[in-house]
Formats: sequence, structure tokens, C-alpha cells
Amino acid sequence: MGDSIKTAVSTDGFFDMYGGKYVAEVLRRPLDELAIAFKEAMQDEEFLRELDIIRRDYIGRETPLCFAPTATKLLGGAQIYIKLEGLANTGAHKINNAIGQCLLAKRMGKKRIIAETGAGQHGLATAAACARLGLDCTVYMGEVDVRRQQPNVAAMELYGAKVKPVTSGSRTLKDAVNEAMRDWAANPDSTHYVLGSALGPAPFPDIVREFQSVIGREVKRQCAERGIQIGAMVACVGGGSNSIGFFEPFINEKEPRLIGAEAGGIGPGIGENASRMTGNCARDGIMQGYKSRFLLDEDGQALPTRSISAGLDYCGIGPQLAALGQSGRIEFTSILDKEALEAVNFFAKNEGILFALESAHAGAAAIKIAKELPPDKAVIINMSGRGDKDVFITSPVFRPAEWLNFLHAEIERLEGGKDIHDAKSMSAK
Ligand SMILES: *Cc1c(COP(=O)(O)O)cnc(C)c1O
Repeated sequence: MGDSIKTAVSTDGFFDMYGGKYVAEVLRRPLDELAIAFKEAMQDEEFLRELDIIRRDYIGRETPLCFAPTATKLLGGAQIYIKLEGLANTGAHKINNAIGQCLLAKRMGKKRIIAETGAGQHGLATAAACARLGLDCTVYMGEVDVRRQQPNVAAMELYGAKVKPVTSGSRTLKDAVNEAMRDWAANPDSTHYVLGSALGPAPFPDIVREFQSVIGREVKRQCAERGIQIGAMVACVGGGSNSIGFFEPFINEKEPRLIGAEAGGIGPGIGENASRMTGNCARDGIMQGYKSRFLLDEDGQALPTRSISAGLDYCGIGPQLAALGQSGRIEFTSILDKEALEAVNFFAKNEGILFALESAHAGAAAIKIAKELPPDKAVIINMSGRGDKDVFITSPVFRPAEWLNFLHAEIERLEGGKDIHDAKSMSAK
């Protein structure tokens, strides 16, 4: 509590040359109001106390910082520690931002929440936060993603959210963002837009970083209490919310090394990855309200991306990360799909910890650099989420025949219809 908020490096939400607020006139007022309300809330002791209590009782903070003894021995260098952010309620770091923004919306007197979602993780966290806080929730989701991510759609509906399939453009995440912006522009007084990562027009990158920086502050305290000397911190980077929150308390210090792991997909070619800082199709651009590094073609159109992890395949990156990457404070590395899968296996077998595929990119980067550091230094990996959610992706890779049998058996069982009728008559009672 009482941690001061870091404002943007320069005025109007710029981080060096990145960031800003490139939006239509109708969105300027809601964004300005949001910036003021956020600043006021972060100086309001009562708001901060409420946030602390809900973080403790509902999210389950603080999350553990877990020593990984076998990994440390096998990798032969720095001590390996894992920040178990995946133990947060709903299974990932996204709830930190969703709860923070929903509390802020309540303080602003808004009763309706909208959000965009790609793989469904942010939509799920926002739906849960709205259920907890008694807010009306609508989630925009590309039609393609709705079809691919049924388990998360089911969870959002269980939490009482309305999931609206988006049928424009490529019918994926960036189209869902556009739809949410349109809704917000039409309903600015009743509605708050909970953006899901540390990007978009100002003040969203500042707000999302602030609500996620609880991760980094805990790590700093946990390491100080236990005398852990941090040599490097590693996080995966999609839009950049878990990484910027994890790095935040260390950005203005010379040490430790801060390392961001991007999705290397299946290789360096066009459409084969989502490497915005290390890839050869990355360039500066302005999209969806902010200036940053994007994967763009010669005409400035967004290129398709690819990653085995649903949460790392966005074509842009948060503006502050782009600036810190260009300045050299944050190092970026690209991790292939198969390296991420190997890391899932490595930490499951050796530590009993199941990484989400996104987080496994950070795990894989740590595996690569552990040897570069001496044994009296620690490498801290942010496990942004846990891997239970990935069973539909990992099982077909690790045990394809058994998984196919399982799916066939499930279809037969459901087409038989008996279990469904039983369940329906049960829920009717
Ligand atoms: C969404 C997600 C990410 C990527 O988003 P960031 O904003 O870059 O943190 C990473 N890990 C998990 C588990 C996610 O759900």
C-alpha cells in the first residue's frame, strides 16, 4: 500500500518515442476521465486498502516464490526460483489487472464492464472479477477464437458474462479490440473498458503496469527477506502485462538483467512467429491507439502471427517494453514452440510444476541462460499461468493416440445423450 505510481516517462503517455493516444475524438474524453480517476484512486487510502484485501482474500496473494532445487542442479549455474503467479485465483496473472480495473470502474460509478479477449484468459479473469464485484460484463471475442477456445467461453458464461462473437476482419483478437473500442465510444458514461494488457492508448499502459506491479513488488520483498541475490528475471511477453509488472520495481536500477521471452513459433519466416522485438518483420507503427513495434507488411498492414501459446500471438507489444527494449534495459529473446514444450516437460518432471505454454517461454529462456550466471545469483522465472488450461494443446503433442481415443469416446458418450439428460434433470432439481 502507498506505493507511488510511476507516471509515463514523458507527457501524454509517451515512453521515449512509443505510446501516446492515437484515437478518434469520441474516445478522448473517456480516456482523459479515466486518467484522472486512476490518479485519484491511487492516492485514496480507502481504495488501496480495499484493493489489498481483495488481493489477499480473493486472488490469493501473495503468491509463492518457489526454489527449484532439481532444476538448479541440472542446469548447473544460477539458483532457479519460480514466482508461482499461476496460483492466483483463475489460474494466471490477468486477474490482478481485471480486479484492479473493475474496482476502479466501481469507484467511478460505472455499472457495466466490457473487455476484449483473444484466447479467453483475459475475458475469463474479467468475467470472474465482475461476478465478484457485482458488475454487468460483456466480452468481445473473435468468432474464430470463440470456436477454438470453448472451455474459456464456457467459464465466462458460468461467471455470468455475455460473450459476443466478433465477425469483422480476421475475427480474432485485434478485431475484438476494435469492437470493444466502438462499444466504449458509444457508451462512455455507463461503461468502463477493461483492456487486458499493458498497451493501447494512454493511460492504459500505466494502469495495467500499476495493477500488475504487485508481482514485482512481492518478488523484491520475498528476495530481500530470504537474502536472495537476483542475477536475472525472466518473463514471457505477449502484450506485456505480466513482464512489465514483474520487472517494474527493477527498471530504474542497473541490475538485475531483465529478459523478455517472445514467441518464436516455428521459425523466423513471415507468419511463423510473434517476435516483435527480435523478428525480421518487426517495425515501428501505429495501431489500435498507440505507437509501438508491430509485425507489419510493407503497406503497414498487420501480419499473421503464430505461436503454440494462445496468449503470445498478438502482433503488437506494449509501448514501454518497446522503449526499454530499444534502450537496452530489457533484453529480448525468441523461444520456439518446441523449446516451450520441452520446458513444460522439464519443470513438470523435475519440479512438479506445470507451466502454461506462455510461461514456458520464460522457463525455456531461463534454461538457456542459467549457466551464464554464478551459483550465488538467482534467476527468477515468472510463471504467469499454470498449464491445466493447455491440455487440449499439450495432450495431442505428448500422447496423440490416447488423446484421440479419449475424444472419440467423449463424442460417442455425448451423442448417446444419456449423461446429458441425467445432468439436466439433476440441475433442474
Ligand atoms: C495472456 C497471458 C500471457 C500474455 O500476456 P501478457 O500481457 O504479455 O502478460 C502470458 N501468460 C499467460 C498465462 C496469459 O494468460
